[in-house]
Amino acid sequence: MDTKVKLLNDLLKISGNFNCADCGVKDVTHASYNIGVFLCQTCAGIHNLLGSHISKTKHLTLDHWELSQINRLKDVGNTKAKLKYEARVPINWTRPTGSARETLLLEHWINAKYAREDFIQGKQPPPYTQGLMEGHMYKRARENSNYYPRKFVLDGKTLRYYVKETKSPKTIINLQHISLFINPVKMQDLGFPCMQIDHIVNGSTRHIFVYHKDAEIIWQWYQSIMISKLSQHKSIDSSNEEPTNPQLQEGWLWKAGPVPTYTHRKRWFTLDNRKLMYHLDPFDAYPKGEIFLGDASSGGYKLQDRGFGEQSHGRCSFSLHTPYRTFILSSETEQDKLSWVNAIGEVLRRPLNQQDKELQSVLVKKRSTALNPLNNLLSRS
Ligand SMILES: [Zn+2]
Repeated sequence: MDTKVKLLNDLLKISGNFNCADCGVKDVTHASYNIGVFLCQTCAGIHNLLGSHISKTKHLTLDHWELSQINRLKDVGNTKAKLKYEARVPINWTRPTGSARETLLLEHWINAKYAREDFIQGKQPPPYTQGLMEGHMYKRARENSNYYPRKFVLDGKTLRYYVKETKSPKTIINLQHISLFINPVKMQDLGFPCMQIDHIVNGSTRHIFVYHKDAEIIWQWYQSIMISKLSQHKSIDSSNEEPTNPQLQEGWLWKAGPVPTYTHRKRWFTLDNRKLMYHLDPFDAYPKGEIFLGDASSGGYKLQDRGFGEQSHGRCSFSLHTPYRTFILSSETEQDKLSWVNAIGEVLRRPLNQQDKELQSVLVKKRSTALNPLNNLLSRS
């Protein structure tokens, strides 16, 4: 065997080196020979996008290696590089998990690690890594589809935005039940990196839609809000919830129930963890109704793979039973139905954690009060 090939193979056997330095997958095929780390193909591709002044990559077997380059990998390697480039990653930072859907999160992670060196010792940590941020994003108006620049301020406890910067904030957002979704499908026509921000106002979810031309800015808002939210949770919740980067399940469904004669109405459905919301329009600021999804094992919640077949106009139906009401839902295709049944079923099988219980109390408490908007929202179709 060629000496260099043997040297590289021996290095790959060292603990740390056989998992990609950036996403952790075991399929290591490349290395960055100036940084000194072993990488998977996806991460090597992102390193190339940073430019060769930041990272120089080669394929481990298809490219020609100089001895000096191999020695650099020997001197550094993934374990040592991690100590340097990830020395101060915030505890609640959302890291990539190696899932195929996370290319954008990976780009942001690799950018932060090597291009900006946000986490190395001896450098002032950027404010966003401490849950502090201030700047402009374009926010969609409630009454039309225009986006206007708005100043947002995150102080570690609340997120505020201003219509007029000299005046008091238009909205102060409590971070407790905030959810963030990067690039939801319905916003992708914009052509810019964007985010949906969901929070609770008087017991109902409020959607805010924002974009920025720079994807890094959107990601920094995402990370800093999540860091603030999770650090607040940890002070009251010892379950050590891991940061997640959930995907939104969204789309049109026909809603009927609880009796077969009920009219089927086309609604835009959004599943955000334990909240199944429905809207007249995908960009409505408030859902027309929201259904808290509890834990199936504790009773009252059940998902059935069929609805009222003869009433569903050839569509594919399923039914969702909750302690309050049964919903008959139908989708255009069997595949679409399956994705909803799987997503809702996965939520119902999961036990409630502390945060879920708090959310449930916020939503349910509102239902029991006679004069409140959510009660109307929930009973309205
Ligand atoms: Zn990787």
